[in-house]
Amino acid sequence: MSLKKVEAYIGIIGGSGLYDPDWFETEIEEIKVYTPYGLPSDFIKVGSIGGVKVAFLARHGPRHSIPPHKVNYRANIWALKEIGVKRIISVSAVGSLREDYKPGDFVCPDQFVDMTKSRAYTFYDGGVVAHVSMADPFCPELREIVVKTARDLNIKMHDKGTYICIEGPRFSTRAESRLWRQWHCDIIGMTLVPEVNLAREAEICYVTIAMVTDYDVWAEKPVTAEEVVRVMKENTEKAKKLLKALIPRIPLERKCPCGEALKTALL
Ligand SMILES: [Zn+2]
Repeated sequence: MSLKKVEAYIGIIGGSGLYDPDWFETEIEEIKVYTPYGLPSDFIKVGSIGGVKVAFLARHGPRHSIPPHKVNYRANIWALKEIGVKRIISVSAVGSLREDYKPGDFVCPDQFVDMTKSRAYTFYDGGVVAHVSMADPFCPELREIVVKTARDLNIKMHDKGTYICIEGPRFSTRAESRLWRQWHCDIIGMTLVPEVNLAREAEICYVTIAMVTDYDVWAEKPVTAEEVVRVMKENTEKAKKLLKALIPRIPLERKCPCGEALKTALL
């Protein structure tokens, strides 16, 4: 089928816990998209929420088979762009680096620190050179909608935070975890980069709903797998509720600068 016929304006990239759009309100159409970078993590599943067409992509593929450092981020962003996505809401599980960001809380980060090591960070790998601005890496318009909707639903959401993205798949050492705290990082995960920079290069708005599952190792609070699974389950249900409420609130016309990111970036 022709991709033009699909045309979803909003994309959701689902992370740990949020694998399936089985909570969409309409039947789901599965689309296989080929990109110059190979296949994305999974089929793109298109359905609707509150009458709005939405494209869903599971970052880690079916049955969580792709680890963070092996995700084909370029193919994922390219594929979403290909079917018309202009705004991405990503969902991911994170660890907390501060006492007051508790397991079960949500965070809408406004900054990140990149400690990844071996990923494909750009669509502009030669030929054309581009340096996009990442001073404010997240879409201000989407951040506002996410934070306000969470507030309206009484979901505990911290409206700021610095996300440190590590390479993984291993977790941090105690020394690393203490260091991230000294750097004023608030939450830690393995998937934000380069997803966020590639979205910027593709001139797609990008926001993250970061769901805290546990304290990172600095806290010296041993957690059981059982506890983490329970928190993740609760977080996933809250995330679905939040997405259902916020997607119909996203205006079709963009007032943010994201759509013109390349204007001053190309050399
Ligand atoms: Zn934007």
